[in-house]
Amino acid sequence: MSEQENPTIEENKKSLNFIEVIVEKDLEEGKNGGRIQTRFPPEPNGYLHIGHAKAICIDFGIAQKYGGVCNLRFDDTNPVKEDVEYVDSIMEDIQWLGFHWENVYYASDYFQQLWDFAVKLVKEGKAYVDEQSAEEIARQKGTPTVPGTESPFRYRPIEESLELFQKMNSGEIPEGKMVLRARIDMASSNMHFRDPLIYHVIHIPHHRTGTTWKAFPMYDFAHGQSDYFEGVTHSLCTLEFVVHRPLYDWFIDQLADSNYRPRQYEFNRLNLTYTVMSKRKLLQLVQDKLVSGWDDPRMPTITGMRRRGFTSEGIRSFIDKIGYTKYDGINDVSLLEHAVREDLNARAMRVFGVLDPVKLLLTNYPEEQVEEMEAINNPEDETMGSRRVKFSRELWIERDDFMEEAPKKYFRLTPGSEVRLKNAYIVKCTGCKKDEGGKVTEVYAEYDPMTKSGMPESNRKVKGTIHWVSVPHSVDAEVRLYDRLFIVEDPAGEKEKDFRELINPESLIVKKGCKVEEYLKEAKPLDSFQFQRIGYFNVDTDTAGGALVFNRTVALRDSWKKQNN
Ligand code: ATP
Ligand code: MG
Repeated sequence: MSEQENPTIEENKKSLNFIEVIVEKDLEEGKNGGRIQTRFPPEPNGYLHIGHAKAICIDFGIAQKYGGVCNLRFDDTNPVKEDVEYVDSIMEDIQWLGFHWENVYYASDYFQQLWDFAVKLVKEGKAYVDEQSAEEIARQKGTPTVPGTESPFRYRPIEESLELFQKMNSGEIPEGKMVLRARIDMASSNMHFRDPLIYHVIHIPHHRTGTTWKAFPMYDFAHGQSDYFEGVTHSLCTLEFVVHRPLYDWFIDQLADSNYRPRQYEFNRLNLTYTVMSKRKLLQLVQDKLVSGWDDPRMPTITGMRRRGFTSEGIRSFIDKIGYTKYDGINDVSLLEHAVREDLNARAMRVFGVLDPVKLLLTNYPEEQVEEMEAINNPEDETMGSRRVKFSRELWIERDDFMEEAPKKYFRLTPGSEVRLKNAYIVKCTGCKKDEGGKVTEVYAEYDPMTKSGMPESNRKVKGTIHWVSVPHSVDAEVRLYDRLFIVEDPAGEKEKDFRELINPESLIVKKGCKVEEYLKEAKPLDSFQFQRIGYFNVDTDTAGGALVFNRTVALRDSWKKQNN
């Protein structure tokens, strides 16, 4: 191997992200016995979105790269919003992205252990039952510069707290009437230390534990401890948890009885332009029927992107490109489209589809004749071979590939001009027919028999090439064109308006009566193609009974590349 192919350790380090640097250092130092264990911890309260894909790539990626283990843990501590439907979809999406978990865990499996730990804290005088309302407690919180006010229940007898904590769980205490709080420091400069709530009462049955528990642990009390119970070494999450980390460590300090301890590291969230990325907001779009469902191809959900034709490879390559840092920002959605386009360019079969058809009649082509033209399936990949496409006297072409009176630089069809019909002949436009309103109904041209591939003049150059579909050999299709779901870059950050008022009215345009080549009759839902000269399209899952529906995955034009070159 040459030196160039074998980067030195130093060069290698440079290309590591900061999390990999931490992991490699921990391995060098033999921390946790050289074990690497991560987890992906979704709350099953919605479908995964592209932001989660970023977390998935690092959680599973680190385990993969360093011979460790990554588990899937459902953070199901709040029965109000959680559902089995979400559990199933989360598993499907992770697998589709190409990752495999070692075990599936549920935070609810630890309810007994968490309860025992809470009881231990009460017994040690480190937790107490507070009977104040949530509003009252919030009022006493203080501000980062003003210390909080101690609850009148802060020093109640341990026995009393233990008894009330039991009642919080038995159903005797109504929701909102009591909480368990850790007794830490009401004057701490870290607001999370000001006697955080660790248990609350919820009377709704839990999707897994039913009515066994009515006192439920809060996020901060469940997450770190679950990491600890499982043996997680690197607990990776997003930057908003930086301020929670001291509390995470505090609970582990109370719990740990060996050298092993999980550590939390935070990276920047993925934010994308022209969309929203919180499950709560995405759920609102679904509930308000502003989109057709979680898998609407305009949604930033994994299921929506899959339906639209985004590939898992394209998504992963995008996430790789944007990387992991400690600074929040917003990524341009066109960079994601660019990555998907790059991947599809390498893999998608090229076909002909005409979105806005007008008929082209080759007046000198024999009436009954049908030829089969050879078409290369993918110039980027020879192994995909070629196919034969039927050609005849009547063809569908794009309406905007003809202009009766064209400007100078128009290199498509206009009376007197020549263009090549892709994979077929050079034709010369002779005129058109119009209806009473002046709309073109038919275009006329004459073909030159010497210009087909293999004929003497096959290499003759003309300025324009257009695509076509033979009329008797075409299939009707509906094509759905997507644009950005919102009209502003950061709809959630808009002060004046609710994000739902900022939906792009042209985010979905449905085109009926499109014409595609016969070959596509056999296409299966989710198959991807390049419609030559137009873009990448896939077969929508609505396709049924021979009625083809296509989604435009991305247009061919790369607006991101253009801006940045
Ligand atoms: P949302 O805010 O969309 O409801 P969440 O943070 O509540 O998301 P969880 O199910 O708790 O969703 O997230 C699981 C994991 O995914 C967490 O580790 C979280 O940090 C990570 N995650 C969530 N959103 C993003 C994002 N936009 N970018 C990167 N990671 C994310
Ligand atoms: Mg969360």
